[in-house]
Amino acid sequence: MLFFRFLIRGLHPRLPTVRPFGATGCGAVFSRSNQAMRVTSYPSRRTMLLSLALGLTLVLLPGDLSARAPQLKRYEFSLPRMGTIFRIELYSSDDATAAKAAEAAFARAEELEQIMSDYRQDSELMSLARQGASAPLPVSSELYDVLAKSIRISELSRGAFNVTVGPLVELWRKVRTTGRLPSASELAKAKALVDYRNIELDGTRRTVYLKRPGMKLDLGAIGKGYAADQMLALLQSQGLRQAMVVAGGEVAVGAPPPGEAGWKVALDTPNVGGGNPPCTLLLHDIAISTSGDSKQFMEVNGKRYSHVIDPSTGWALEGMASTTVIAKDATTTDALGTALSVLPVQDGIHLAQSLPGVAVYMVRQAGNGWKRYVSRGFPKGCPGQQ
Ligand code: AMP
Ligand code: MG
Repeated sequence: MLFFRFLIRGLHPRLPTVRPFGATGCGAVFSRSNQAMRVTSYPSRRTMLLSLALGLTLVLLPGDLSARAPQLKRYEFSLPRMGTIFRIELYSSDDATAAKAAEAAFARAEELEQIMSDYRQDSELMSLARQGASAPLPVSSELYDVLAKSIRISELSRGAFNVTVGPLVELWRKVRTTGRLPSASELAKAKALVDYRNIELDGTRRTVYLKRPGMKLDLGAIGKGYAADQMLALLQSQGLRQAMVVAGGEVAVGAPPPGEAGWKVALDTPNVGGGNPPCTLLLHDIAISTSGDSKQFMEVNGKRYSHVIDPSTGWALEGMASTTVIAKDATTTDALGTALSVLPVQDGIHLAQSLPGVAVYMVRQAGNGWKRYVSRGFPKGCPGQQ
């Protein structure tokens, strides 16, 4: 159990922020226009005990107890997973249903972490790295699906998103501790192992074969989005359609809260405009992710390097930037967010516009200022749109 905390909050409804991967804390942003509210309902003793037993943070908010849905209460649960905070908000008529569904959704996240983690030596992903180059290895349907999706996004982005980036990630993780940039020969050695076309999937046998020994897969740019989708689907299958899952920078939302047009999601961009989010979107039945370096970066010799790597050069991205993608599911937004961070801006805009239901909002450093690039179809209300 990672932590025990129990809260009842009745002050401000919290807005999820789409924020970069791996940032600790789920980045709640308080809307300046929010009014303070009183707690009007409390979780039952059973829900409290369940939450404590689970080590979940349960926040019960008064929600909108309007005439339209008087029986629904708003619940919030959070738990650390995959190196970040996972958060669930949902509406339910009773405490036990809410707590049971949240418990099941977090259990699903734990299962997925055990499959996809590159930090746990006993994860399925790490077994694949050890054995997948000897012979085709049968894998779970989750790992197969996420790899198939990864390869599709790699193809679409011509390798800007690349799930075989593991050896380069390892090299750049070392930079964090040594403070020394990788040499040309280290980069060349790692890059030689980075090519998504060297993953062979067999859809009939559900096996994965890695064509080069030493290949290392990294699901850091897609796994949390996949987990958010799976968790939302699970909540919905239990009848809780008015739900939102926030997995670090990946957000998947279902039907809107009672009496509202959508879930409020504040855009997380680099510190443009003094730290306030540039805009807040109202979203439902959709996903949104931000990939960027506003929290995840390192500085070497006065230069700022992102945790996202350009697989074509082996080099970590430089300078501050954010890329926010909207699409029908968070697996897609997570992976595309990373892909469009790497691609040149105009290529990214074209790719987004070529895909149905996909839109992107990018912020890039330009000299001492910032430039925003927005694709067709991005929800209105954010600065920089035409
Ligand atoms: P995200 O925050 O979703 O952009 O994911 C960043 C994480 O994905 C990094 O911490 C790496 O583990 C991994 N990664 C870095 N660069 C790439 C890339 N070009 N393609 C796929 N995964 C990457
Ligand atoms: Mg990503």
